[in-house]
Amino acid sequence: MDAAKTIWMNGKFIPWDDAKTHVLSHTIHYGNGVIEGTKAYKTDKGYAIFRLNDHTKRLLESARMTLIDIPYTVEELNQAQIELVRKNEFTGDNVYIRPFAFLGYGVMGVHHKGAPVETVLAAWEWGAYLGEEGLKRGIRLKISSINRAANTSSMGKAKATANYLNSQMAKYEAIECGYDEGLLLDDQGYVAEATGAAFFMVREGKLITPPSDNALESITQKMVIEMAEDMGIEVLRRRITREELYIADEAFLTGTAAEVTPVRDIDGRIVGEGSRGPITEKIQSTYFDIVFGRNPKYNHYLTYV
Ligand SMILES: *Cc1c(COP(=O)(O)O)cnc(C)c1O
Repeated sequence: MDAAKTIWMNGKFIPWDDAKTHVLSHTIHYGNGVIEGTKAYKTDKGYAIFRLNDHTKRLLESARMTLIDIPYTVEELNQAQIELVRKNEFTGDNVYIRPFAFLGYGVMGVHHKGAPVETVLAAWEWGAYLGEEGLKRGIRLKISSINRAANTSSMGKAKATANYLNSQMAKYEAIECGYDEGLLLDDQGYVAEATGAAFFMVREGKLITPPSDNALESITQKMVIEMAEDMGIEVLRRRITREELYIADEAFLTGTAAEVTPVRDIDGRIVGEGSRGPITEKIQSTYFDIVFGRNPKYNHYLTYV
């Protein structure tokens, strides 16, 4: 990864190389931590953080769900992220911000409430998550043999570190089998989401995306639904089964990191024309216009630093 200059840790900006923790930190052993993934884009008027408030709010909500007491408010963390982007003096188009909280050193054992909470905001330059090529040509998606954990046994609405074991196993399997990304079904066999992105497909001109019953409530998914409705595209939120994926006209993934990435193949079956479809392209280009500050209608989602 590309190192940056400074990281905000527990209220202070410190040099990148000094942002360290003890090996006996609670989260390393028991896996309870929460993360966000937020992006800043270089616009004509300098960097703008996209949907900053939504991401910070979700971090605090994830932490409440998983019983981690972050001692900062949304406003404090928003302001610190603005300063973080400024202080690092980035130059590239894409800056990724990773706010997170974990349990530090001091106690061992599953009962976690005695462990200190460490709150961190880091940022670095990071380009297209699924590759520039993937954004243009589309990626290959494999239905994972592992399911997304049922909401009876996990906290899928929390952007929790613990949920990423599931995602990692699915991602590994997809890559080893020659695909780019895994698509997880829920325990009932309906599409949940990809390993770190939401799923959309197009059938007969309509956009279809699953409800968030067994998935994270994705901010980008919400954004794409709003954009599509503004464009006059009908959006359905309903369950999707495996066989329906194989007859989709178009498919794409959405996420802060994945942005809008077309899917050209699912399980070795060609999706539509096997390239970025027309509706996908329209949504993708509109999304990039919004995040780069070129669409005044959605400017309220941008926080200029
Ligand atoms: C972060 C994440 C997403 C994407 O959410 P956005 O809010 O759109 O960035 C989707 N699924 C999982 C499991 C995630 O962790």
